Amino acid sequence: MIHSYRAWRGVNTGVKNLHPSLVSKTGGDDVLLPFAPIGRWQLIRSDQEIANKRVSAIDKTKKSSAETPAKRKNPAPVSVRPSKKRKLPPPAPVGLMWDRVNYSCAYDTLFVRLYHIWNGHGPLWTNRFASVTEYTDQLGKGFESYALKTRTSETVRDQVRRSLATANPTGFPNGPEFTFLYMLTDTMFGSCFWGRETLKCLKCNLVDNVTQGYPCTRTVYKDVGLKATYKDEYMLSHWLNALKISRTFGRCTVCKGGLARIEVPVIAPPVLHFALDDSSIRLDPSFNITVWQATVRYALRSVIYIGNHHFTTRILKENGDVWFHDGIETGLTCIAEGQALLGI
Ligand SMILES: [Zn+2]
Repeated sequence: MIHSYRAWRGVNTGVKNLHPSLVSKTGGDDVLLPFAPIGRWQLIRSDQEIANKRVSAIDKTKKSSAETPAKRKNPAPVSVRPSKKRKLPPPAPVGLMWDRVNYSCAYDTLFVRLYHIWNGHGPLWTNRFASVTEYTDQLGKGFESYALKTRTSETVRDQVRRSLATANPTGFPNGPEFTFLYMLTDTMFGSCFWGRETLKCLKCNLVDNVTQGYPCTRTVYKDVGLKATYKDEYMLSHWLNALKISRTFGRCTVCKGGLARIEVPVIAPPVLHFALDDSSIRLDPSFNITVWQATVRYALRSVIYIGNHHFTTRILKENGDVWFHDGIETGLTCIAEGQALLGI
């Protein structure tokens, strides 16, 4: 934070009212030196650029292999400088540094994953975010200003956070307080309902009730029947499909027949969130939802975990690369974890 301040105000800027633990025993503030610019979010290349780079790297490898026999025929000692390009790991996706004063892991995990959805599409997703709520609108515009280097990643996060706290100081507290992720996603995405739920009699077809269905964050409860049917192949898409029509305990007011709950999506929101109550369910890399006879494909882009009241996340890139982010451990970057397996 101090380095951020000095980077902003100038390297030689003094810091007033410095905490005693940061002041050297000689009484000066030399504990702050040497000054070094801290890392910031870096725009990563688009997946297509990465793919092109990999194709290019493969081409180079093939050429190198073809040339190797010829080189072996020449015993002359040749100092071969290893190619730096081949040793470079893929660019690490950006992360967010955890705020140890105002605990921020819920915001870090959600905003990092949304940034990676936004990144590579830019204005398209800025417009999509603008169409959801004032908070996603603010975040999308914040991503743009970050891309233009006019704001830091922490500034973008904290500005959206302040807007949330102003509207709901209890739900989005400052200080060493826990923030519920479902409350954050529901507020960010507007507690929107994107479906219609109908209670219908299976015997006389009476429509008992029509309500809004498909809330923004959908809790995936355990379903013993589905688990028994699909066993180890039980996927999130099975659970979603089963929602289309399910039996209820209700009875028809006319014929006393059984009531079924029929859920139909009526809009396709830009992002879907699921809270998994069933940890044994497997996640589809992608699945389709039909809305008004149009098929909309959704791809898995991140998984958020909670442990010891702290959120961390795995980000899945379009090319299958998996990256791990923990605002405490990995901070401004992510750690590569290889390629995703189908149905993780
Ligand atoms: Zn009936």
